[in-house]
Amino acid sequence: MALTIAPRAGFCNNTPMEKIRNFCIIAHIDHGKSTLADRLLEITGTVEKRAMKEQYLDSMDLERERGITIKMAPVRMNYELGIGNNDSEKKSNSQFAIPNSSFILNLIDTPGHSDFSYEVSRALTAVEGAVLLVDATQGIQAQTLANFHSAQKAGLTIIGAVNKIDMHPPGLEAVVDDVARLVGIPRDEVHRISGKTGEGVAELLRAVIEKVPAPTRREGERAALIFDSLYDDHKGIIAFVRIFSGAFRAGEEVRLMRAGEKLKIKELGALVPKMQSRETLDVGEIGYIATGIKDPDKLKIGDTIGPAVGGDALPGYREPQPVVFVAVYPHEDSDYDDLKVALYRLKLNDASFTFEPDMSEVLGRGFKCGFLGRLHFEIITQRLEREFNLKTVNSFPSVAYEVKQRGEWQTVQNPKDFPDDYEDVRQPIVHLEILTPARFLGEVLSLQSQFRFSGITTDNFGDYIIVTTKLPLSELVSDFDDRLKSVSQGYASFSYELSEPMPADLIKLEILIANEVVPGLTRVIFREDADREGRKMVERLKDLLPKQQFTQALQARAYGRIIARENIAALKKDVAGYLYGGDRTRKMKLWKKQARGKERLKRTGRVSLSPEVFRELLKK
Ligand code: GDP
Ligand code: MG
Repeated sequence: MALTIAPRAGFCNNTPMEKIRNFCIIAHIDHGKSTLADRLLEITGTVEKRAMKEQYLDSMDLERERGITIKMAPVRMNYELGIGNNDSEKKSNSQFAIPNSSFILNLIDTPGHSDFSYEVSRALTAVEGAVLLVDATQGIQAQTLANFHSAQKAGLTIIGAVNKIDMHPPGLEAVVDDVARLVGIPRDEVHRISGKTGEGVAELLRAVIEKVPAPTRREGERAALIFDSLYDDHKGIIAFVRIFSGAFRAGEEVRLMRAGEKLKIKELGALVPKMQSRETLDVGEIGYIATGIKDPDKLKIGDTIGPAVGGDALPGYREPQPVVFVAVYPHEDSDYDDLKVALYRLKLNDASFTFEPDMSEVLGRGFKCGFLGRLHFEIITQRLEREFNLKTVNSFPSVAYEVKQRGEWQTVQNPKDFPDDYEDVRQPIVHLEILTPARFLGEVLSLQSQFRFSGITTDNFGDYIIVTTKLPLSELVSDFDDRLKSVSQGYASFSYELSEPMPADLIKLEILIANEVVPGLTRVIFREDADREGRKMVERLKDLLPKQQFTQALQARAYGRIIARENIAALKKDVAGYLYGGDRTRKMKLWKKQARGKERLKRTGRVSLSPEVFRELLKK
């Protein structure tokens, strides 16, 4: 294993460009990107072994706990080729074209889920190469294909690697074949590695240096592409940048090319992965620039930092479009301001998430939030709870419809605003690509009985079938994910892209508890599903809300009439039951709170539904 000293401030300024390699790791979720990144940090001595924790770059608690990367994480590493401490490494180094050289490797670890493909696309424009990682026990999956195609479109050099070989999966050779076929390389060029044990990782790193081209200088004045940002209370917005031409120096005046905003660079430097300040950032490098800007509307990801006068903007990014909408209300009305601050803070580091004030007669003041997908929504609400200690009452995730009423088209994002008397309506559609081992094709196609696929085509890819179809986005955000996994025993996977909206016959379904509409449960559904959905909803609610605090009628209403009804009985909820020991005052407090809550419930009809309840209600 090579030993290098982590760079000190000022140490690696003016690195010649030919010694820089910028690359990212792309893969389907769980195929081992973050774990491989851990090994790379270790091998390069970027993070000391004793400071190492698993999935080091997943800095959010939630990322570690759920084991998924939500945000991309750039890191700069030094790698000294030829100082290997074992003979085989020395031997292979001696055959290498540039022996005993020091390289700067800028790695960007990316998230794998389709909801975050926007993050991946941004990372791809900041690098020259990509390691395409495939879990040998799982084989190629839908996101492998989607990421591969994006990397190819971005013109990157792609290095194929099969991971988790320490598990000695019987299908290893077939997976190697598939990766070779996909990337278009001979099978002996596919790396066989274990991110867990480190086997093959040094060789992979060497291939990155050998195959990924060094960055090149772009013509024109200095320009830094902002591919991500982070909010810091003291330094303001910190832009993560890739320098495409020229150099930037701390303290000098620069300009945001698109926003037209001038600023003085407060600080700049490398991410190792913590911020390490330096005097300059040179062409080809990846690093950070602290802008001092506090207003997130002024600094947009995709903007270019250029000279104070002159210069031009680099091609930016398509702005992310939220497609899933959820009304989020504070559990306690008094938490409204805290919720607002929390949402604002989350948005500072996640530009793809939107929110605006929303008012409901029953639930009070809240926010209508837009997300990139259902996973994105779940993550934000979990972060609210985790990082800000805020419980929320959330509506069903819904999608935006184009509705024509009295000759005018308008967009309806909130189901409660969906009119009963529309003339025409269009719903968002996704282009869906499912990748399944051939043996599960029948099961995958059987999903047609539950989900509205239209225009199915199939293609062979080795032992896999690629099923391409269109599906209403509303169906995708219900439990498509779980159903696909369950019919294919976890082997099939999907990726999606938004497609053209299509006409649909839809109606509004409302759920009433104690004769009051629960706005969060209002949904827009297909007319032909109304009776079935109405009945199912009240029955499920009856099961899911066994401990309501007073007798209530549960009803479903569609096209102006009640289509299903159930009753739930009164039952005292033992809120203090989980507290052991004799903490009487604590219990008293809880009981008092419960009494107050009961008052409130009666007054407002508010029913707090946890995300789990929604998840259950959403199931087909
Ligand atoms: P990511 O979603 O692609 O970032 O994947 P992670 O790095 O979070 O890894 C997903 C899971 O696979 C974790 O439980 C890892 O411990 C495990 N894993 C990753 N690499 C290896 C490997 O080489 N061998 C084994 N046995 N497990 C691995
Ligand atoms: Mg990860």
